[in-house]
Amino acid sequence: MAEVKYVFVTGGVTSSLGKGIVSASLAKLLQSRGYSVTIQKLDPYINIDPGTLNPYEHGECYVTLDGAETDLDLGHYERFLNVPTSQANSVTTGKIYQTVINKERKGDYLGKTVQVIPHITDEIKKRIKQLGQSNKFDIILTEIGGTVGDIESLPYIESVRQLKWELGYQNCIVVHLTLVPFLSATGESKTKPTQHSVKELLETGIQPDVLVLRTEKPLNTDIKRKVALFCNVEENAVIESVDVSTIYEVPMKMLEQGLDKAVVKKLALPVKHEPDLSEWRAFLDKLKNPKHSVTVGIVGKYVELPDAYKSIIESFVHAGAANECEIEIKYIHSEEINESNTASVLQGLNGILVAPGFGSRGIEGKILAARYARENNIPFLGICLGMQCAVIEFARNVLNFEGADSTEINHKTKYPVIDIMEEQKSVINSGGTMRLGGYKCIITKGSKAYEAYGTTEIVERHRHRYEFNNKYLDDFRRHGMDPVGINPESGLVEIIELTGHKWFAGVQFHPEYSSTALNPHPLFVSFVKACTV
Ligand code: GLN
Repeated sequence: MAEVKYVFVTGGVTSSLGKGIVSASLAKLLQSRGYSVTIQKLDPYINIDPGTLNPYEHGECYVTLDGAETDLDLGHYERFLNVPTSQANSVTTGKIYQTVINKERKGDYLGKTVQVIPHITDEIKKRIKQLGQSNKFDIILTEIGGTVGDIESLPYIESVRQLKWELGYQNCIVVHLTLVPFLSATGESKTKPTQHSVKELLETGIQPDVLVLRTEKPLNTDIKRKVALFCNVEENAVIESVDVSTIYEVPMKMLEQGLDKAVVKKLALPVKHEPDLSEWRAFLDKLKNPKHSVTVGIVGKYVELPDAYKSIIESFVHAGAANECEIEIKYIHSEEINESNTASVLQGLNGILVAPGFGSRGIEGKILAARYARENNIPFLGICLGMQCAVIEFARNVLNFEGADSTEINHKTKYPVIDIMEEQKSVINSGGTMRLGGYKCIITKGSKAYEAYGTTEIVERHRHRYEFNNKYLDDFRRHGMDPVGINPESGLVEIIELTGHKWFAGVQFHPEYSSTALNPHPLFVSFVKACTV
């Protein structure tokens, strides 16, 4: 295999410029030129992973097939590239320090003083190069979290500087993303923040190779030329990234601007072929020209921050395109649903999704939403806690198990229809200890799930501690709630369906993590289809 090339994406001026989307878009373009690409995220926080973070802090926690709890940007990477990421794609300062400190305790540093440079930077570089040494990729794209100038991202920036020197300037480039604000008072786009941000990067010893300028309004050539001149970057390597209506449009905009061309040239990559984005274009075409429209309610307790449900929302985008259907999402706060207002809050919805979650806040509203969907024959998808709520609801109102509950909510319940998994009982630490990542599930033929997947064996990603209590399996089965998906090793119930209902499924796993633009998740596709009829 030819030499692996490294692309680093840094951000300046402000956070939230969409570095993840720009990284994913660039990677998509390089992939469409026939290179094999992966994207890694380096996050400067001290948490080992975002698994212990409240979604209000950091949005959704995304889970990889091999069980890493990661930043939601990894979801974008998979949704754009259609290639799974892994533990190695997600690095945090916490992980770096943990490794270095463990080595120090073992005596691996042979009496040396352990310091940020070289020990922390060496560990960072090792994690970056590890992906390159896997022999699977031509290009490793590494997104550096945070903004240039932050104290906490300094060791990462210094590692990039060293890598550029060690690996050679043609093998290692930096794409810097900044903001060009538009001042409506004067009607001008201003380049000064970008100039300052590049200066800040230069102070750390890094000359960016490519600049991507986020802007509300299209920029004229004069502005781009000015940025090129003052930031020491070739003119064709100054790319504008103007606001678009959907993130899936960004690769096309970057293509028009020649971002891929500039990167291929800087890396001296042999040109394989021109970008082939025919499937991507077909997806966009369907997305932008829907033939019908439906309204789906997402019932959850973090609805004030839609980033907490990022993968679910994107799964609806993919499934909507697959069904040529526009999906309007109505966010419903589960704490605002009660016995007397359920019908008025949920009326008019074509489908109801009850979201995953932890703890008791808002749980009764989720249970009421599941009841409403069951009784009114409204398509329903319950994910993880959402599935558990559907089970609790069925136990209480159909099986007449008064006070049935999950032991997560009420550990004294007489009917623990959802109970803690045996192997979880001895767990003490909260970080990284759930049942995480891909597990098999065998699906019953004739079920809606089988119809959707078209196969009896699937692997789906998980993130939970509680499970369906198999002690009650027969009660549920006899009354019409069918366990149609089971883990073959443990017997754990993975999917439940309601017989005689239009479309009602609860899944213990997270289908949303594996839906991509070109590979929409079968369950979401089937759920949306049911919402349209
Ligand atoms: N709190 C539930 C459990 O741990 C559900 C988790 C989830 O929705 N991800 O089993």
